[in-house]
Amino acid sequence: MTHVVTLNAGSSSMKFGLFELTDDDPIMVCTGAVERIGEPEPLVKAKSSDGSVLASGTAGEIRDHAAALDWVLNLLARSFPNSDVTAVGHRVVHGGPEIDAPVPLTKASIQELDKLSPFAPLHQPHNLAGARAAMERFPNADQIACFDTAFHRNHPWENDVFALPREYYDKGVRRYGFHGLSYEFISDHMAKTAPLLHEGRVVVAHLGNGASMCAMIGGRSVGSTMGFSALDGLPMGSRCGQLDPGVVLYLMDQEGLSADEISDLLFRKSGLLGLSGLSNDMRTLEKADTRESRQAISYFTFRIRRELGAMAAILGGIDALVFTGGIGENSRLVRERVCSGMGWLGIELNPDANADNDRIISTDLSRVVVMAIPTNEELVIARAAADLLAKRPRLRTA
Ligand code: ADP
Repeated sequence: MTHVVTLNAGSSSMKFGLFELTDDDPIMVCTGAVERIGEPEPLVKAKSSDGSVLASGTAGEIRDHAAALDWVLNLLARSFPNSDVTAVGHRVVHGGPEIDAPVPLTKASIQELDKLSPFAPLHQPHNLAGARAAMERFPNADQIACFDTAFHRNHPWENDVFALPREYYDKGVRRYGFHGLSYEFISDHMAKTAPLLHEGRVVVAHLGNGASMCAMIGGRSVGSTMGFSALDGLPMGSRCGQLDPGVVLYLMDQEGLSADEISDLLFRKSGLLGLSGLSNDMRTLEKADTRESRQAISYFTFRIRRELGAMAAILGGIDALVFTGGIGENSRLVRERVCSGMGWLGIELNPDANADNDRIISTDLSRVVVMAIPTNEELVIARAAADLLAKRPRLRTA
C-alpha cells in the first residue's frame, strides 16, 4: 500500500496527515499537529481514522520546523511501520501571480518559490523549510506543493488590483486571496453533494484562527476578502483584518514603531485577542461573557455581515452561504449573529438545525441555502498528490 504525507507548516505549528492512496479518493489514516514550535512547552496531538489517540499533550523540546518534522515522522514510523510514503504534499501559502494549480517541487522550484517569501514572510519560509526537510527525509518520494493563492488566481482584474501606480501591480503588489485549499475543498464537496448550488452564486465564510470569505460562481473564485497579505478583510484570532493604511503611517510616524513591531502588532496582537484583551479563541470569548469579549464577537460578526452584503452585490444575489473553519463549523452563536436580520438577502436560519450543527441550517423556505461544512485542507493536498502521481507515476526531486 502506498501513502502520501501532507504537511501544513505555519509560523509556529505543523499540521500533518497520512493518507492511503487508492484507485478512488485518498483515505485518511491519521492526522495531527505540533503546536508552539520553539516555545518552552510545545503541544502535540495525533489521532488515527478510527479515533484512537496516538499523541496528546506536551512534548519535550521541539526547537524548529525540522525538529517538528522529525517528531511527526517518528510518530508515523512508530504507529504505521508498514506505510510506504511515495509522495509528500505541502501547503505553500504563496504561488505568486502565475501559479493556479499544484506543482511538483524540486530544489530549483523551491528556490523560485523562495523569491516570493517577501510577499508572505511569516509563512512562506516555514512552508519551504518543511519541503526541504521532507526532501532530505524522503529522498525517493515526490514532493508536491499546493498553494493558498492558486484558487483565486483567475478572479477578475478588479479583484486583483489596488489603485496604486501600475508599476506596483507589475511588481506583484496584488490582491491574491488565501485559504484556497479550504475553498477548493468546499467547491469540490458542493459539486458532488449539491451540484445545482455549486453552479450558482455561493459565498463561503472560512472562519478559523485565520478568517476570510470567498465569492464563487460555478465553483470558481470571483472575489475574496483577503488581499496582498493574510491580514486583510475579516478580523481574525490575532490579526486585525481590514485597516486604513493611514493607521500604519500613524503608527510609524507618531508612535515610532518599526516595521517589525507593526507586523507583530497587526499579526499577533490584534483581532479578537486585541479587542477582547483576553483571548484569540472564540470558545474562550463565548464563555467569558465580559463586555470586551462581547464587543470582540460583535465586531467579528459585523464585519462578516458587511462583507456578505458586498459579495451579494458583486454576485447579483446569492444562492448558498457556507460556513466552515473551526468557528464556522462549530459556533452556533456566530452563525446565528451573522444570519439574523438577513431576510432581505433571502437568508432564513433554522434555529434548531443551527443548534444541532446540521449540514443545512436554513429553513426549507429560505431562498438562500445556508450550510455548515467541515473543511479538509489535508485531503485537498492528498488529492493533488494522487492526481500528479497518476499523471506522472514518478516525479523525481532534482
Ligand atoms: P486554524 O485557522 O488554526 O486552522 P481552526 O479552523 O481550528 O483554526 O479554528 C480555530 C477557532 O475555532 C478557534 O477560535 C476556536 O475557538 C474555534 N472553535 C472551535 N470549536 C468551537 C466551538 N465549539 N464553538 C466556538 N468556537 C469554536
